Amino acid sequence: MPQCFRCGRTVNATDVKCKTCGAELKAFGHPGIELHRATGEVALCVTCTYHVDDSCNYDKRPHAQDCTLYQDVKHQIAEIHRPGARQPRSSNQLVITVAVVLGLLLLASMMR
Ligand code: SF4
Ligand SMILES: [Zn+2]
Repeated sequence: MPQCFRCGRTVNATDVKCKTCGAELKAFGHPGIELHRATGEVALCVTCTYHVDDSCNYDKRPHAQDCTLYQDVKHQIAEIHRPGARQPRSSNQLVITVAVVLGLLLLASMMR
């Protein structure tokens, strides 16, 4: 059973607020929207995939103490190294793919 981050009492996984201390446990009052919280002083961003890959543009980055979009970079790394997992494309591969497609389109238009 999960525990309240503030008072430590046991809570239900779908509780929006802690019944003991009233702490907000879910985002926007919705039981399906996870509100991730930092434990201790270290901001969530330090271990977040979207900080590591520099794709987050939230104002609270890099000091977020709570966030709905947090994704633990360790899970991302574990997924990449899972046997049979599809490997992400590097930015160089993407640029080459776009260049090849554009080249083929240009060639096709010249042949008309
Ligand atoms: S998604 Fe949230 S936790 Fe992740 S880097 Fe952005 S603000 Fe930080
Ligand atoms: Zn509580």
